[in-house]
Formats: sequence, structure tokens, C-alpha cells
Amino acid sequence: MEDCIFCKIANKKIPTEPVYEDENTIAFNDLNPQAPVHVLVIPKKHYASLNELDDEKTMAALLKAVKEVARKLGITDYRTVINTGKEAGQEVFHIHFHVLAGRPLKWPPG
Ligand code: 5GP
Ligand code: ZN
Repeated sequence: MEDCIFCKIANKKIPTEPVYEDENTIAFNDLNPQAPVHVLVIPKKHYASLNELDDEKTMAALLKAVKEVARKLGITDYRTVINTGKEAGQEVFHIHFHVLAGRPLKWPPG
């Protein structure tokens, strides 16, 4: 997608230091971290949100990438969030998993 910031990161049009990368996914630090660890995990292919993600291989690849991020960072306790739709807080319409860690996280989220 031409105007999608996360496609530009995935295509390396915006230089980004990956926390983890494989054939189908890339993970990188959030620009505005909400915790000491705040990594975003995205598929390289554009899907606007979880509602559009229909490829089971990519679904599995994303979860695997989340686990690889945790393993690489040496964290065992973390929260994984997918905001889907504006009302749920989604601002970037290229599906992404937030991986948050490094401080106690409250429940329920706001
Ligand atoms: P959402 O609200 O859509 O679930 O999350 C979007 C996240 O992307 C936010 O946490 C925001 O800080 C992050 N973000 C937005 N633009 C950029 C960017 O250009 N680079 C990085 N690394 N993160 C971004
Ligand atoms: Zn995109």
C-alpha cells in the first residue's frame, strides 16, 4: 500500500532497526513506547486490520514472531494487543501486534 507507513517500514523505504525479522513478518520498536518494552509485530504484506487478515499462514507467522521477539528480548511476561478498528484504538491501518513488557500492566485496559 502506497501511503501506508508500516508498508514503508516493511519494504525498508523507512530505515528501521528490526527487533526480529523473517520472510513474512518484521518487528520493530514503537515510536511512542508505552512500556520499557514496546515492540510492534507486523506482516510484510498489507492487511488493514485483523478483520481483513484471512491468510492462516500469516496468522501463524505473526504469533510465531511475537514469541521470537519475547525470546530474543529475554522476556517471559508480556502483553500482546491487537487494536481492531477506531473505537478500539487502532490508528495505523496495517495490522500489528503490540508486545508490551517491563512494567506491571493493569487489567482491564482502558
Ligand atoms: P494502534 O493505535 O494503531 O494500535 O498503534 C499504532 C502504533 O504505531 C502506536 O503505538 C504508535 O506509537 C506507533 N507508530 C505510529 N507511527 C509509527 C512509525 O512511523 N514508526 C513506529 N516505529 N511506530 C509508529
Ligand atoms: Zn501497510
